[in-house]
Amino acid sequence: MINMQRIQKTYQNGVQALSNINIHIGKEEFVYVVGPSGAGKSTIIKLIIREVKPTEGTVHVNGTNLGDLRKKQIPYLRRKIGVVFQDFKLFHKSSIFENIAFALEVIGEPTDRIKPRVMEVLKLVKLKDKARCKPRELSGGEQQRVAIGRAMASKPAILIADEPTGNLDPETTWSIMGTLEDINYRGTTVVMATHNSHIVNNLKKRVIAIDNGNVVRDEMRGAYSYEA
Ligand code: ADP
Ligand code: ADP
Repeated sequence: MINMQRIQKTYQNGVQALSNINIHIGKEEFVYVVGPSGAGKSTIIKLIIREVKPTEGTVHVNGTNLGDLRKKQIPYLRRKIGVVFQDFKLFHKSSIFENIAFALEVIGEPTDRIKPRVMEVLKLVKLKDKARCKPRELSGGEQQRVAIGRAMASKPAILIADEPTGNLDPETTWSIMGTLEDINYRGTTVVMATHNSHIVNNLKKRVIAIDNGNVVRDEMRGAYSYEA
């Protein structure tokens, strides 16, 4: 599903973010990527969604070598990978309905299929009655559910979440985790970068720990840190 081989990434300013990363994530896995700030977690995520290119090494997603992708093929990759961020990244002037519809428009979904799929997604994330609201009328947890719904709209094989609970209170955090677990249970691979040790230690999953640009630990049903 996701295969990173001998990845080294040095940014243009000379900062080496990743030194030798080898990661294989199989179909339907749920993986936490943990590590201190600056460890290289976001860089790993950006490589998977082809927002950055590796300096050395190869990234395969669903059997496609991302190094072979041309710019105009990137939207096809984005269909297979949904992405959720800490700050939701919703369009504030648009309704919840429009936020999700827009994601389907940019990947070229036929117009007549957009409305039914948006309604389906809103049902899945339990926000059907909020379709006409603007993001600011929703709680943080609801906004994150919109973002998750938007990410899932194209029925991607992989959902990437970069600190999805970073701006949420503990109670909302658990509900978002429930949504992500459900999505994984229904067959989507979930890769989640997080600083939240409570989540990692309580909802046991595979843990890939990154430090200083290297994988320092990779455990099934792992903990946030060695001590935990
Ligand atoms: P994390 O997500 O674990 O906090 P990042 O992948 O964001 O780590 O960053 C890893 C290293 O790469 C850090 O030293 C960071 O400052 C650097 N870095 C990240 N993005 C860029 C960029 N666009 N340009 C230059 N350096 C960057
Ligand atoms: P139930 O039948 O148990 O009520 P739902 O179909 O309402 O299950 O979904 C349960 C949760 O799973 C929802 O809150 C939703 O957030 C999440 N979910 C499952 N699949 C998806 C999906 N494809 N897109 C977005 N959210 C999903």
